[in-house]
Amino acid sequence: MAGASGEALSAPVPAARRRAFVHRLLRWGHVHGRRDFPWQQRRTPYRVWVSEVMLQQTRAVVVVPYFQRFMRRFPGVIALARASEDEVLRLWTGLGYYGRARNLHRSARLLRERHGGRFPRRLEELLRLPGIGRSTAGAVLGLAYNLPATILDGNVRRVLCRYFLLRAPPGAALERRLWELAEALVPERDVVLYTQTLMDLGATVCTPTSPDCARCPLKELCLARRRGCQRELPLPRPRHAPPTRRTIFLVLRDQDGRLLLERCPPSGVWGGLWCFPKGPPEGGDAAAWCSARFHCKVVDTHPLPEQRHTFSHYRLHAELCLLRVVPHAVVAADSGSLWLRPELPPPVGLAAAVRRALPAILKRGTACAAPLSSGFARAKTRTT
Ligand code: SF4
Repeated sequence: MAGASGEALSAPVPAARRRAFVHRLLRWGHVHGRRDFPWQQRRTPYRVWVSEVMLQQTRAVVVVPYFQRFMRRFPGVIALARASEDEVLRLWTGLGYYGRARNLHRSARLLRERHGGRFPRRLEELLRLPGIGRSTAGAVLGLAYNLPATILDGNVRRVLCRYFLLRAPPGAALERRLWELAEALVPERDVVLYTQTLMDLGATVCTPTSPDCARCPLKELCLARRRGCQRELPLPRPRHAPPTRRTIFLVLRDQDGRLLLERCPPSGVWGGLWCFPKGPPEGGDAAAWCSARFHCKVVDTHPLPEQRHTFSHYRLHAELCLLRVVPHAVVAADSGSLWLRPELPPPVGLAAAVRRALPAILKRGTACAAPLSSGFARAKTRTT
């Protein structure tokens, strides 16, 4: 099968072309490779793994402070395995794609149980851990153990699509070919330098919209550059406008200024994080809904600025209604809800809706003139 006017999707890579690719890349990497990121210092399987997971869908400069905080708090697999999920998510807050953090945590526990906290050196065993795909496993084996393993992240994909002029649309056939090429190119020696350099080239020279071919060590051999179509590759996925969902968040604030939060279901976009409770369907009466659901008296209500959030598969338009309440009964008696003191550093991971709303909430002050109800069950609420 051939990609339209591009390279056949099954042709072997001629040995001379493979050698030239590796040789030029290594020579460039010696001089221009990036060496200053914290995960490039003291490379251990654990540090490589955490950084690779953080770097999925996130730029390196954004990852740096998160990585440093994470390493200070969880310097190794055992420390991570011992932590609570809340603490892991708290340190991940702001990085997005929270399933990554939950998988990291689950994998750390499995590594402790099955491997005594050490990383296996075999691909199949790494692939059994949640959240570790072929590329992340390749990074651990290649960058930490210097084994001839393969990485295929977004940067590497882009370089290979352009270098080999792969014009096939995104899909299984292209994916298969990219893995074949990536595996065929990995050298026996200098795996660490090769792997790191390939990723660096994609991140700094062969960039998505403005590849700097004049600086590229592969420029004489790159088929896309020869055809002048480097900016068109890789072909994009067909875009569909994501649907918009609407919701109302109830920002319950008690007489002490605390906010009621609930833990989000594990599978959603804010899975495991803490967010405001959802209110009635659009057009419903937020105060009546709140009284009925939380058995509290609503003293007054106030709208907060509307929020818009964009996720990979939908957009969320959220109205927020601040309600000063006097709880008459237990409203946070189980582990699925808590009262948050908004003026203190949060002890749990907060959904973006909460983080974004906090400045407006704090600006309104904490005063509440409502009298305490005799039924207010302070002792049973969980306060943070
Ligand atoms: S020559 Fe240009 S398009 Fe080809 S790999 Fe280098 S930067 Fe990318």
